[in-house]
Amino acid sequence: KVIFVPREGAGEERVAASPETVKRLTAMGFSIVVETGAGTASGILDGDFEAAGARIGSASDAAGADVILKVNRPTSSEISGYRSGAAVFASMDPYGNEAALAEMARAGITAFAMELMPRITRAQSMDVLSSQANLAGYRAVIDAAHQYGRALPMMMTAAGTVPAAKVFVMGAGVAGLQAIATARRLGAVVSATDVRPAAKEQVASLGAKFIAVEDEEFKAAETAGGYAKQMSEAYQAKQAALVADHIAKQDIVITTALIPGRPAPRLVTRSMLASMKAGSVAVDLAVERGGNIEGSVKGSVATVEGVKVIGYANVAGRVAASASALYAKNLFAFLETMVSKETKEFAVNPDDELVKATMLTHGGQVVHPNFAEAAA
Ligand code: NAD
Repeated sequence: KVIFVPREGAGEERVAASPETVKRLTAMGFSIVVETGAGTASGILDGDFEAAGARIGSASDAAGADVILKVNRPTSSEISGYRSGAAVFASMDPYGNEAALAEMARAGITAFAMELMPRITRAQSMDVLSSQANLAGYRAVIDAAHQYGRALPMMMTAAGTVPAAKVFVMGAGVAGLQAIATARRLGAVVSATDVRPAAKEQVASLGAKFIAVEDEEFKAAETAGGYAKQMSEAYQAKQAALVADHIAKQDIVITTALIPGRPAPRLVTRSMLASMKAGSVAVDLAVERGGNIEGSVKGSVATVEGVKVIGYANVAGRVAASASALYAKNLFAFLETMVSKETKEFAVNPDDELVKATMLTHGGQVVHPNFAEAAA
């Protein structure tokens, strides 16, 4: 079987394969074609892919591929170059994009949404949400530090003392926990909040202070899958009052709060930003899902009430080389489950729970239960 790895579109520096995964996929019996220049922005040259066993080709090689490995959901023009029956693995961003799913179904593609991978032990090595969110959390702190006109660590010098920056992280999932750890490494005084009770201990274990309204609703706020629930209006009001007090004393706020399949919760209002010191910085990692911060602008740094609000999209892509290496490994781990150890045959098993959870389209239909109805 033939695997094709395209160069991603403008604004995406990541690539869905690495020399390591090319080598391992080749050893499993695949022939791999990588579009010329696909890895350049991630520091992987055509020659590196060639040395690992790939052939360097062009976009038109997609037509001969059985499997296509991508970072982002294919565009209409990309889809038109795929053959019917091809299996496409990518971050598909399926929620709210039902028309795009229907288009992939019509093209006869079998599309897998890597972000729907269940968070079970067996699939940990395939968890693109975690591998990418971890880097986004790291980069959020670096971006904040870059915009902040002061030093993060306390510095006692002959010329006087620079106080440590106060960093507040809202949402202590994978990205938030890495943001906490990174801000601590840079010497900031860090606090964090979340609506899931399990986050409390994790925040404390990283040396940050946990701030939250810990009522009955909080104690039940985690789903079986480990995600946050949408909180009641009453809870959100209490949370906002607590946060408003705390934010006024912070130098940097980093928000990462998401609820699967829903718009991001609005956590920071304009008046909260106005209460912060001039020159403070906020980072909205949820900007692509509607934003946690009022006034954040996707793709840029906006000044809102005197606070620099960073709204960069695709923050993991701002650490492209690391992000590509981990993402490629996630895809490899999933593909590996579809190849028979004895015969080296590649086959999609529709009864496998990982396939059931991630397969969006197959045989001309949108097959995923979360989207089939909307697409019909
Ligand atoms: P996410 O990206 O869906 O959300 C980020 C964080 O925002 C979450 O911690 C969530 O609780 C929080 N949040 C939502 N609404 C909020 C609000 N109103 N105020 C404050 N915070 C709010 O989450 P994630 O990073 O994907 O992690 C979700 C869970 O999955 C975590 O418990 C994580 O440890 C767990 N996880 C498990 C595995 C595994 O077992 N394989 C892998 C990765 C993550």
